[in-house]
Amino acid sequence: MDYEAVIGLEIHVQLNNATKMFCDCPNRPGDEPNQNTCPICLWIPGAMPRFSQVVLEKATMAGLALNCEIQKENAFDQKVYYYPDLPKGFQLSQSHLPLAKNGWLDITDENGQPKRIRIHQVHMEEDVAKLVHETEGHTPISLVDFNRAGTPLVEIVSEPDIRTPHEAMEYIRSLRTQIRYVDSAECSMESGTMRVDANISIRPKNSDRMNTKVEVKNMNSIHNVGNAIAYEITRQANQLQKGEAVVLHTRLWNPDKHVTEAMRGKFEGPCVPDPSVPRIIVTDEWLNTLKARLPEMPGGKAERFFKDYGLSRDEAVLMSSERNLSEYFEAVVNQDIPPRFAVHWIATQLLPALKERNQNVEDTPVTTERFSQLLSMLERDEINANSAKEVLAQLFDSTETPGAVIEKGGLRQVSNTSEIEVIVDQIITENRSAVDDFHNGKTKAMGFLVGRAMQASQGKANPRLIKEMLSAKLGNNT
Ligand SMILES: [Zn+2]
Repeated sequence: MDYEAVIGLEIHVQLNNATKMFCDCPNRPGDEPNQNTCPICLWIPGAMPRFSQVVLEKATMAGLALNCEIQKENAFDQKVYYYPDLPKGFQLSQSHLPLAKNGWLDITDENGQPKRIRIHQVHMEEDVAKLVHETEGHTPISLVDFNRAGTPLVEIVSEPDIRTPHEAMEYIRSLRTQIRYVDSAECSMESGTMRVDANISIRPKNSDRMNTKVEVKNMNSIHNVGNAIAYEITRQANQLQKGEAVVLHTRLWNPDKHVTEAMRGKFEGPCVPDPSVPRIIVTDEWLNTLKARLPEMPGGKAERFFKDYGLSRDEAVLMSSERNLSEYFEAVVNQDIPPRFAVHWIATQLLPALKERNQNVEDTPVTTERFSQLLSMLERDEINANSAKEVLAQLFDSTETPGAVIEKGGLRQVSNTSEIEVIVDQIITENRSAVDDFHNGKTKAMGFLVGRAMQASQGKANPRLIKEMLSAKLGNNT
């Protein structure tokens, strides 16, 4: 039987504001254990939560970036469960009156077709403490770190519109890009600031039945979300083929074995309105000030890059994939560098060099000014491409201008025709057999001769001039 998967994602994103959600403790879960705590986030009875306005702004901006309707009124509930990472017995979350509803993200499916994934809701939630399991002698012990307790999250719940691992990964990438654009969160699965849970069920193709779903957790990269979903689809299909029923439960992705493993029955505790945090009323005036702060978003920006700068679709999407990168690219173009030339050098040289050095476009010493100066000299034929790569590498370690680096290294391109003629004549004399090959119709010999001439000039000659001169001279000899 032919099955199709029905997939919904629940994504927790840790907001990047300075403090926790209901107190002034730093929002830095990775610090030394239990440093960032106070009576509020240690959940000591009697301590009253104070809701942070900045959290509300960051969460609302995330909701707007995901094309949601921000609700006029939202409120916190107590999600009740008992576990050592939550000693107060409930987590402040939003269930009955969430912050935002009815959003969407557009993605591209496997066949390159556009597809809209609807977002059911976006709500705020405090994180719980972290359990650390160790051994003391031979005794296993569990420790509790409260640094994470009360850090601000938004949970983004999609509709079950996703059908394949590819669509799930595209949706997560798009969500990450949108939220990073409005600077609400870092959204890194690797560093734990984004956590993805997948709800997966399968059904016969073309049916609209909703079958029992299984929840899969513990994926630490977007790639592994795809792997876990693919595995789970096959596992459930095999189970149905054998006539076994799928039961509601939670599974963990095991990245070493590349399988999902049953963890526990899914427990949903009660959720009751919380009396300690006042209801949040969103006024049109306040919401309009946030909307006015929205930057040009990646979709619109890619369209503009495509139309105004003549980039290809892929180039336009790449240059708008991160807000800082898009701003870097435009700053270079504004310094009179042809757009596609800039894209080529950013994509093939600058980005790999940054990655190698663990730098970003916003904190690299290769500022847009220095990078543009280099590209401009390359474009004016003052240096050749090989030298430009060498200069780029040096710009990371010095504060000098590209011009100064070029002069110091003697890298200026030789475009002086009499100097090049001396080299070309010498190459023709020393490589008679290649010259004969060329005359006998072996066009590859030309490449060999140009290479020899470049070598003789220590890489500094203008390859275009060498080729022109060689062609002219060899042409005369026939
Ligand atoms: Zn605190």
